[in-house]
Amino acid sequence: MPTISEALTLMDYGPAPESPAIALDWLKGRPFGHFINGSFTKPGETFAVANPATGVELAQVTQGSDADVATAVAAARAAAKGWAKLSGGQRARYLYALARLMQKRERLFAVLESLDNGKPIRESRDIDVPLAVRHFYHHAGWAELVADEFPGHRPHGVCGQIIPWNFPLLMLAWKVAPALAAGNTVVLKPAEYTPLTALLFAELCIEAGLPKGVVNIVTGDGRTGAALVAAEVDKIAFTGSTDVGRIIRQATAGSGKALTLELGGKSPFIVFAEADLDAAVEGVVDAIWFNQGEVCCAGSRILVQEQVAETFTNRLKARMAKLRLGDPLDKSTDIGAVVHDSQLDRIRSIVDQAIAQGAVLHQAPLPNGPGSFCPPGLLTDLGAANIANTEEIFGPVVTLMSFRTPGEAVELANNTRYGLAASIWSENITTALDIAAQVKAGVVWINGTNLFDAGAPFGGMRESGFGREGAREGMLAYLTRDEAGGKERKAPDALSPLPAGPAGDAVDRTRKLYIGGAQKRPDGGYSYAVPGAQVPLGGRKDIRNAVEAAHKASGWSKVTGHNRAQVLYFLAENLSARARDFAPKDEVAQAIERAFYWAAWADKYDGKVHATASAHVTLALKEPFGVMGVVCPEEAPLLGFVSAVLPAIAMGNRVIAVPSQSNPVPALDLCQVFDTSDVPGGVVNIVSGPRGELTETLARHDDVAALWVFADKATCQSAEKLSAGNLKPVWIESRQRDWAGAAGQSREFLRKAVQVKTVWVPYGA
Ligand code: NAD
Repeated sequence: MPTISEALTLMDYGPAPESPAIALDWLKGRPFGHFINGSFTKPGETFAVANPATGVELAQVTQGSDADVATAVAAARAAAKGWAKLSGGQRARYLYALARLMQKRERLFAVLESLDNGKPIRESRDIDVPLAVRHFYHHAGWAELVADEFPGHRPHGVCGQIIPWNFPLLMLAWKVAPALAAGNTVVLKPAEYTPLTALLFAELCIEAGLPKGVVNIVTGDGRTGAALVAAEVDKIAFTGSTDVGRIIRQATAGSGKALTLELGGKSPFIVFAEADLDAAVEGVVDAIWFNQGEVCCAGSRILVQEQVAETFTNRLKARMAKLRLGDPLDKSTDIGAVVHDSQLDRIRSIVDQAIAQGAVLHQAPLPNGPGSFCPPGLLTDLGAANIANTEEIFGPVVTLMSFRTPGEAVELANNTRYGLAASIWSENITTALDIAAQVKAGVVWINGTNLFDAGAPFGGMRESGFGREGAREGMLAYLTRDEAGGKERKAPDALSPLPAGPAGDAVDRTRKLYIGGAQKRPDGGYSYAVPGAQVPLGGRKDIRNAVEAAHKASGWSKVTGHNRAQVLYFLAENLSARARDFAPKDEVAQAIERAFYWAAWADKYDGKVHATASAHVTLALKEPFGVMGVVCPEEAPLLGFVSAVLPAIAMGNRVIAVPSQSNPVPALDLCQVFDTSDVPGGVVNIVSGPRGELTETLARHDDVAALWVFADKATCQSAEKLSAGNLKPVWIESRQRDWAGAAGQSREFLRKAVQVKTVWVPYGA
């Protein structure tokens, strides 16, 4: 024990440990079974769950078998009807009860979480648990409002939910609360390293009197997760690594199961010269040294403007040296234990490779002794291609690079396959918001980082996945609507290519593809015959050319909605003036109306300002994907084309459209209307031909950011499967839609043409 004068000189913290007793008592003597149909099952084959800070076993937990998963899904199925039938107000009561019970057991939850995961008690107590509670309160509200606010929607039914180990209770809350609020029942699989707070939550479900089978929890590893993905569920919601997300995308392809994926990230943390550097240094602490860096949206790549790079790096190193690594239950610990030895090995392996590739590591030596501890680290002197800049480390090690201009900052920031989050530091609001608009990320924090709230949508772009959690946008992920109630589509008859070149000596009347604003012969030179016409037989190369042309037309995504509306009104007028040239006659009048309809929306489907529990305006902006594929329906060759393609471009996308295979003529003839209506070249590209093959090329293409497929089942299935490459969101519909009716101008077209970017801007702080 130091003397008082020594203590005053050292100014060091004394130990302030939280007692683990409350959690150890709760765990005492019980191996855990699953929580199915309102009670715990008898433990089956079990595995050990250990405290990563000590290596000491905490509990034995059951490895869920296929049969266990099937039993849980059957329980959820049996409960689904009754739960969905309750009024929103009745469901809200249960969610409030869960929130309150969780609040009453805050301390137990926090201690158990820290023991199980290794995270500092300060974080589990002040962040994880309160945010989880907030999530249940917020969604109790949504349960109350769902019928009013989402008319025409219904719950999916049974949702399978798979979560990672980094925020075990919080991820449970993010999954379970909106699902229940929307009227779904769930089977949740927690991560194998950290299932304990989920099992404690199961007890709350009993205490709250939640109807049996509404929440089911099956523990186990990836095999249990795979069984859940394969089970008879209506939706899978997954949070975890991009690799597993890809496997799940392929496994669910064509099954009709809805899917949302919250995956990994490699988020930039951008510091401009005019930033408040001390605040930004503190920001790094919260960005990458929070939760041992095991945060999907961690600011793991610092980009700092050259003129302040040295000062910033020095201050950062000084701050890093002051971080306290140690016992997660000690209230003065900043960095606790990494979740598991295997994760520690992964961190070390990437850092070693980064050093081998030339990076310089600044880090205190790894501590000896038990427990998986990793001191905070900083990697400097590395290039953009260094493994530490490209791979998610998922540990407390951050990279630092400098940049000169804002343009270079954006280029480096977007130089990743991910698109989860970004943090921007500048006292200049113009710079900050300009960069916010340019970074490809689902969440952007201005002069802040790692801010979360149930009222703010969270989720990724690109290979960080699709779907949002939280707020109104997150509710939509747990609701669906039955708009396409028609017959299952059949694949069109196989087409047979005609010889290359003009037919006979007559004037060549063969129509052309429309690519980059010009009529183009297909690359192969072939055409095929449809009743009354010869039409171009497009192929893979034509799709690739069209994608390239669409990329060049990026200006369209940047102009205002007003500008786009003007162009679309002009287009509608021109279509109207040329109505007589178009067929089928029974579709023309409505196609014109529809063009005016989507023109009207071009400047109105805007975002929201969300109320969150902090001093920010939280903007949920609707951004176009960029380049999209639209495989238009076989039926309604004109009306279906206009109904599907125009909302996509009204929202600012550039489209590669595959028209009806058996009658592409009306779509191909539209190119003249596009030409005369100031639609910039490359905004709409039309490639006719074998739709199965063309769809596959679009689905595989890494530079196509989203895909809609209105086609037969087999084409839909392969589109979903092949989209796993860049994890583009795919909207498939194998049943016919009533294009002439309300379903032909549903709000779904707008919703599926945009992705939400959540921007947190300090306000009133
Ligand atoms: P992981 O993908 O290995 O595991 C996540 C979950 O999936 C676990 O429950 C695991 O048991 C299960 N699983 C594993 N294989 C499976 C399979 N084949 N089929 C079905 N389920 C399977 O990821 P992890 O290592 O637990 O978590 C870290 C990853 O999660 C990081 O990449 C991180 O970025 C990501 N993450 C993302 C978010 C987000 O919201 N975007 C949030 C937290 C974590």
